[in-house]
Amino acid sequence: MSKKETILSGMQPSGELHIGNLEAALKNWVKLQDDYNMFCCIVDWHALTGDYEHTDILKERVFQLAVDYMSAGLDPEKCAIFIQSDVKEHAELHLLFSMMITVPTLTRLPTYTEKKEEKGLDSYGFLGYPVLQAADICVYNANKVPVGKDQEKHVWLAADLAGRFNNLYGETFVIPQALFTKIPVIPGQDGRKMSKSYNNHIPIAAGEKETVDKIKKYFTDPQKIRKGDPGRPEICPIYQLHLVYTPDAENIIAPPCRTGELGCVDCKMKLAANLNESLRPLREKRVVIENNKDYIWDVLKNGGLRARERAAAVMDKVRSAMKMDYFKQ
Ligand code: SF4
Repeated sequence: MSKKETILSGMQPSGELHIGNLEAALKNWVKLQDDYNMFCCIVDWHALTGDYEHTDILKERVFQLAVDYMSAGLDPEKCAIFIQSDVKEHAELHLLFSMMITVPTLTRLPTYTEKKEEKGLDSYGFLGYPVLQAADICVYNANKVPVGKDQEKHVWLAADLAGRFNNLYGETFVIPQALFTKIPVIPGQDGRKMSKSYNNHIPIAAGEKETVDKIKKYFTDPQKIRKGDPGRPEICPIYQLHLVYTPDAENIIAPPCRTGELGCVDCKMKLAANLNESLRPLREKRVVIENNKDYIWDVLKNGGLRARERAAAVMDKVRSAMKMDYFKQ
């Protein structure tokens, strides 16, 4: 039995992964898989909260996300890569947790109000998705959950539900904690956070030319109209990306931008070249893996078996703690 702590992480199969997802989450997961017992989930049920009508594209999206996971370096020998809906215990624990939480607690969560207004969502499933997230975490008795600050409240909710369950029925769950890491700022073309919903993203699977075209469309310092004008790198999204993809950007990009010696067109081309260089190994691996469909589905199937084994053991404890293990003699 492994003494390593357990981590649960997951992404929705909601379309092409972008470099923001790669830098903010995936690269971190790849590092963590060596030191933790990792469960990397493709949260297909969560994807339905915003788009339940279009399930015809879900299978391909699940497949592509698995390809992205593995191209970025997640290793099925080190972590269980699986599909949420393949492990029904998530749904069972979601139902039990949903009895233990009030509607006002859920409507007060900041992500509820934001997304309700932004996406016009008002379903029962959408209201309860943080409870499903709590179940995703607790069904593996995960110790840690790698999240950004915007998801902190959801881990808090999982910890609260796990603690309340333990108080009511006896020690059953580990109390999960958020695992924060320093995440680089990855702005999209319009300077806002990179997001598919803003359509300002650069997909990791994009071709090199497509990447160049996307970089060309980025906002820059609006006061720097032509080469020779002094620029302000500190407010420029292109400079934020240079800080991630260009070694020593503080010395080779910022000063000539400020003096006007560096023009935005050249600056963008340098960035596009460095970004393409950085993504090349991942993209090459991606092409190979994507063509090996059987392998990907086998990885997901085997990951599901490993995840189910763990989740079933936790749910046995849950039913026993609640005295609902009716057929156990
Ligand atoms: S030169 Fe580069 S860093 Fe400076 S404003 Fe233009 S794009 Fe931004």
